Amino acid sequence: MERYSRQIALPFVGKAGQAKLGAAKVTVIGCGALGTVAAELLVRGGVGCVQIVDRDVVELSNLQRQFLFTERDAAERLPKAMALAAHLQTINSDVEILPLVTDFSGSKAVDMLTGSTVAVDATDNYVTRFTINDACLELKLPWVYGGALGSRGMTATFRAEGACFRCLFSELPMLGAGDSCEIEGVLASATATIAALQAVEVMKLIIAPHAVQGRILELDVWNSSFHTLSLQRDESCPACRGGLRLFLAGDRLPEASIVCGRNSVLVSSATAQPDLVELAQVLAAKGLVVTRTKFSLRVEAQEREVIVFADGRALINGTSDAHEARRVYQAILGL
Ligand SMILES: [Zn+2]
Repeated sequence: MERYSRQIALPFVGKAGQAKLGAAKVTVIGCGALGTVAAELLVRGGVGCVQIVDRDVVELSNLQRQFLFTERDAAERLPKAMALAAHLQTINSDVEILPLVTDFSGSKAVDMLTGSTVAVDATDNYVTRFTINDACLELKLPWVYGGALGSRGMTATFRAEGACFRCLFSELPMLGAGDSCEIEGVLASATATIAALQAVEVMKLIIAPHAVQGRILELDVWNSSFHTLSLQRDESCPACRGGLRLFLAGDRLPEASIVCGRNSVLVSSATAQPDLVELAQVLAAKGLVVTRTKFSLRVEAQEREVIVFADGRALINGTSDAHEARRVYQAILGL
């Protein structure tokens, strides 16, 4: 108990609260800028079991904001979930860390969350967030949303009895219009602040659910602004009102397949059905160089050439790395 003495001394935690943390299982979806920080805080705080889910590998560009990862992790291109689990276990060997190197998607989502007390959204895309929302509605599980871009960030807590994520964002953003930290940049202080707020929400959900306010919190660390908005349930919401679980039906995240004999990767997605004219306008407005042909769109981004076809597939030229290709695809299409 010495390890947690400073936390137990808090009147709203105490020994009883610490015991509740020790008995809880939290699933953190995504081991990036939000997930690494949130998971570290939860592990240091004594959450008994922390499950971490991520399919990607550690890269040098992650180290600016993704805590615990080292240059060696990046050089070895270790799976983020495995690298993070190893670091977390050295911080606290008393708690259980369960790394899962996989996408959080489709039919697997409910299985992955079964048995959890709370879920944390530490992803960077709306397809996964809609999937978390559907899975948590199905399991009546509370979850904490987080997102950050530039110097701004947003977080909100969703519970079975209140508004859900689709009450707030009814549909996926238009293709290409989703935010991407690869193109627009992000400050580590923004992601770390949001992740810290997510971790405290998780602790409140475990120790004192009545203390959770159920409001949206928005902040800008560069402008030092911080405010809350009320979260209203949408009576016409297809997910929490209509019972629709669209995102549990099939895998909707982009899939990459390496093209033999060429320095390119083909990425396909069941979610992307782009209107090429519209997509060209959206991407051009972001400052990307876009050329339109009859059947495809050529986009220059991050020193890569990307050819997007009308059925949502895209050829990423200049790489033979599936992770890299999927990253570029998601950055451009905002999926
Ligand atoms: Zn809803």
